[in-house]
Amino acid sequence: MDVALRQVAEGATGFMPPQEGLALYTAAAAIPAGGLICEVGTYCGKSTLYLAAAARAAGATVVTVDHHRGSEEKYHDTTLVDPRTGRLDTLPFLRRTLEQGQVEDVVTAIVGRSEQVGRWWTTPIALLFLDGGHTEEQAQADYEAWGRHVTSGGLLAIHDVFPDPADGGQAPHHVLLRALDEGFREQSRTGSLRVLRRVD
Ligand code: MG
Repeated sequence: MDVALRQVAEGATGFMPPQEGLALYTAAAAIPAGGLICEVGTYCGKSTLYLAAAARAAGATVVTVDHHRGSEEKYHDTTLVDPRTGRLDTLPFLRRTLEQGQVEDVVTAIVGRSEQVGRWWTTPIALLFLDGGHTEEQAQADYEAWGRHVTSGGLLAIHDVFPDPADGGQAPHHVLLRALDEGFREQSRTGSLRVLRRVD
């Protein structure tokens, strides 16, 4: 991975350990040229940078979707609050991250709820990265809205998969089990990151 971009990624605000970020990069860098990488759950763009580096390497493009109002189960970071409204707003921080990483040419940010955007989305996805809301309802809704767009042979990456409830919330793990039941096969594990391939 590009060293400068990796340094910006490691310094960016977010919840992606370096080893998992590199695993995400490695998976995404292997997609076919011209392919589309889609991330659900942008937050401040930390993992977006790993995907952007991969997109550069692969000749691909990244689309990242988030309403940028944070999520109920995530730590409420008061430095991300819009003082005008008192509401969380991560969009300005995403823009800074993309600018710092100089990846605005390969990343398109979509501001909206995942299922709302998913309603009109039709483009096939070569790699889908699910890292949105981690409630059971939201995680399942994200998978339903986006999983069906992954191409045959395409990849599905899921973050924060904890098979043991003592380690973390179960929703991403339930999504993993569902995906395994619906045509995906596990390809790699790095920390809480799982990469699956569509084999049907
Ligand atoms: Mg995550």
